[in-house]
Amino acid sequence: MEKKKTYSGETGKEKSAGQKRNGSICPVSGKCGGCQYVDMPYKEQLKKKQRQVEQLLKGYGKVMPIIGMDAPAHYRNKVHAVFAFQKGRGIISGIYQEKSHRVVPVESCLLENQKAGEIIRSVRELAKSFKLKAYDEDSGYGLLRHVLVRVGHITGEIMVVLVLGSPVLSSKKNFVNELCKLHPEITTILVNVNNKRTSMVLGEKEQVIYGKGFIEDELCGRRFKISAKSFYQVNSVQTEALYAKAAEYAQLTGKETVVDAYCGIGTIALAVAGQAGKVIGVELNKDAVRDAVMNAKINRIKNADFYQNDAGRFLTQMADAGEKVDVVFMDPPRSGSTEEFLDALICIRPKRVVYISCEPETLARDLKYLTGKSGYRVQEITPVDMFPFTGNIEIVCSLSNRKSKPDTQVK
Ligand code: SAH
Repeated sequence: MEKKKTYSGETGKEKSAGQKRNGSICPVSGKCGGCQYVDMPYKEQLKKKQRQVEQLLKGYGKVMPIIGMDAPAHYRNKVHAVFAFQKGRGIISGIYQEKSHRVVPVESCLLENQKAGEIIRSVRELAKSFKLKAYDEDSGYGLLRHVLVRVGHITGEIMVVLVLGSPVLSSKKNFVNELCKLHPEITTILVNVNNKRTSMVLGEKEQVIYGKGFIEDELCGRRFKISAKSFYQVNSVQTEALYAKAAEYAQLTGKETVVDAYCGIGTIALAVAGQAGKVIGVELNKDAVRDAVMNAKINRIKNADFYQNDAGRFLTQMADAGEKVDVVFMDPPRSGSTEEFLDALICIRPKRVVYISCEPETLARDLKYLTGKSGYRVQEITPVDMFPFTGNIEIVCSLSNRKSKPDTQVK
């Protein structure tokens, strides 16, 4: 979107002045594929998502009204751009055209944090004046491959990751100085080296060239360390709404033993730790588990333990050991959970299960399995609009089991 093309997030009405030649308020819609609903008024988007969830899940339980945003534009706290060389224009920054590796130049985007967009444009212009070459995926020639910017929603801390095809940025010091002069709000800059022919943005090797190498942000009153490679929800405003609903569904009283399965950097576990006896997080990604342990320390939380394991294997071990659990939060990836996990859940039989899903189809599949085989019933389902302008839907859902064992008491 160009600056003068206004978008009114509050009313959900786009001004006609914003219509581009391609008939969209976004000049690259149709090429990008990121925002299926970019030209639909926001209220319509919410209605559409509500209907979709109702159609799919109303047979399981009551579907509450979707939680939307008051101001849905520019919600993404993590912004990525790819660089390429274009004849006549020099280095360009943008996105891959849908289902291809052609780079479409993008000046600004309705989804992305605006400060991050400004920084990306500055990196591109500085690259021109420093005569840095854009990396060419076919030949493997050139240096500058991607840039990733992460913005702390509450703290305002900003991380810039320059992804390079080779480790040598000769004018590193001057480049950092110039970029920080233009954007003093940047708190850390890293170089990440990715010399593989891959669609992954980040490579293995990382070097901090300015600041502390990570940012911190706040969520639900807790502070979280976020490093370049760890998963962190991209819409901070809606994450707080999602977690608040999840905590409400859990009905914690301060005594319960709680499992946070697929816990990432421990955000849910640490957000509810104060209302539980103890919390146990399990997560497959090593870096995320390391961050979760550190985050417990930062927040002086003593009743949280984190384990690196497959969630299904871990819960099965808990079931085999006869462990008692009162509440399970589960937030699996798009592929959903596994029969191994769900069987262990049915065996442990916690009183309440709070299922957070970013893929309604796999949620429906797992609910069918859970409710068909056990005494679990869905209590309530709430869609949360974590991804305005896109077709993606997030859902939080509560289940309870009358046949569960009484609460555990943690001494
Ligand atoms: N609850 C967290 C993370 C949710 S994303 C948050 O809100 O931030 C899903 C997480 O599941 C990712 O961190 C991913 O690494 C993890 N994951 C994927 N497969 C897994 C498995 N088999 N066992 C445990 N964790 C897994």
